[in-house]
Amino acid sequence: MQMSNGVLLLNASYEPLQVVSLRRAIVLLLKEKAEIVEADGAELHSGSLVLPKPSVIRLVYYVKIPSRLHLPLTRKMVLARDNYTCQYCGRQFPKSELTIDHVIPKSRGGETTWDNVVVACRRCNQRKGNRTPKEAGMKLLREPFEPRYVAIVILGEGSRQSTWEKYLGMYRGKKRIK
Ligand SMILES: [Zn+2]
Repeated sequence: MQMSNGVLLLNASYEPLQVVSLRRAIVLLLKEKAEIVEADGAELHSGSLVLPKPSVIRLVYYVKIPSRLHLPLTRKMVLARDNYTCQYCGRQFPKSELTIDHVIPKSRGGETTWDNVVVACRRCNQRKGNRTPKEAGMKLLREPFEPRYVAIVILGEGSRQSTWEKYLGMYRGKKRIK
């Protein structure tokens, strides 16, 4: 069973909107403003009512989101985007042991942009050195992307649930790295 009581709220289009409390999710379900997309197997009892405990719910009506806002590119945001996972060896580390790697090194003209920075553990960063992943014979887990503004509320440290991942993954950018 999941420890977290956060519920991922999706738009009618399945786009992630935010993480809501379990209580809020139940209200939306009872008012038939949302439906359960993923449940975590547990049951909730409310009076005579028995509900599967939701982990992902979806609004019945489409909510228009304000035009895209750009997220500040900070170490904290990059760590959150990459889920504290080294993008080369695929292992999770405490944030103190993680570095921000420029995929195309700065010294080679690589810029500090969402699509050129990834989280790397010290060991991988050291191994890669002043080389591109190709030169170093290292492969990125996935191409870095600019996260959508709405994702910011989903990026809370350690609060992600495994059932959320496929919905979060739908809204990645598509820029490619050579
Ligand atoms: Zn690593």
